[in-house]
Amino acid sequence: EDKVFYRDTWAEIDLDALYSNISQIREYLPEETKIFAAVKANAYGHGDIPTSKTVLAAGVHGLAVAFLDEALAIREAGITAPILVLGASRADDAWIAARKNISLTVFQVDWLQEAEKVIPAGTNLRVHIKCDTGMGRIGITKEDELEQIEDFILQSDRFFFEGIFTHFSTADQLDETYYNQQLSRFQYFLSCLKTLPPYIHAANSAGALCHHDSLFNTVRIGIAMYGLSPSDEIKDNLPFNRKEVFSLHTKITHVKKLHVGEKVGYGADYTATKDEWIATLPIGYADGWIRKLKGFEVIADGEMVPIVGKICMDQTMIKLPRSMPVGTQITLIGKQKEHFISVDDVAKKLETINYEVTCAITNRVPRVYK
Ligand code: PLP
Repeated sequence: EDKVFYRDTWAEIDLDALYSNISQIREYLPEETKIFAAVKANAYGHGDIPTSKTVLAAGVHGLAVAFLDEALAIREAGITAPILVLGASRADDAWIAARKNISLTVFQVDWLQEAEKVIPAGTNLRVHIKCDTGMGRIGITKEDELEQIEDFILQSDRFFFEGIFTHFSTADQLDETYYNQQLSRFQYFLSCLKTLPPYIHAANSAGALCHHDSLFNTVRIGIAMYGLSPSDEIKDNLPFNRKEVFSLHTKITHVKKLHVGEKVGYGADYTATKDEWIATLPIGYADGWIRKLKGFEVIADGEMVPIVGKICMDQTMIKLPRSMPVGTQITLIGKQKEHFISVDDVAKKLETINYEVTCAITNRVPRVYK
């Protein structure tokens, strides 16, 4: 089902690695713990539909996305598994979520009042109440808000109280102080409820894999199933053999010999100091291979070689140790012969987190499934 494309730059998505990662996580967690796989943002850049199909086949219970549009696209592809929208949706759109059997996150009584008006009689919307226990993003922060929301949901035939959840801001840190505060706040909110809904969830990857007390009956796994660590701090504590799912490749489009004093790229800020082999790659900042990667290395014919000059919108130049043929495959992220460039290596160079790296590779780069 790969789309045809006419460009020698692609992200390779290793669905076997994805399957293996999530199966091991499934195996590690208690059997009764349900997993919602976080496939928001096009599955962190890995492709939402192939990712969803693979993880569902590996025993995941449902899918979690950020926005209603993402949930609808997954339904459109014929996937019938439970889908939860984690972010805020418009009350006016509640009817379509109800119709498509998509669960929404709620945390304001007026939202429920507005939504109730647009949900047709005879149908209902599945809702999860979001508790803000310290993330400071969305969610109720006080018990009276929780009570009002629960009461409203329970008295209305247009809503089904399907879940309650929170999100940890420091589950990926070794210091558990703030994590424990959030956990007890969530436990307190649960104790305020008149009725417990079927899904109770708090843990992201870091919670689920490093904090047994965060599991409740459901967890939301994102980064770990892509074979990436939630943070550097806990990367050696993950209880499974992770394999990175995402890799990025291109092929040389042009090779030339530069002589002393000749220049490369915008601003002419790279100058050859002797005879040098320079190759051009068809990838640039419009692909998410951003200018800050100047000076980073890629793998050419099994050797690490530097990017030279400024990265252009659609092209990048590299310095080769010798001439190589046009068409030579270059690995920008992933393994080639004995070298490996991890998503974390790119994140480090960009002074960011691995999550941002795969999300930032734009849709112009075709995803090829292996
Ligand atoms: N739950 C919520 C509310 C999220 O925003 C996210 C992602 O940021 C996740 C779960 C998944 O987190 P992770 O990718 O760290 O497992």
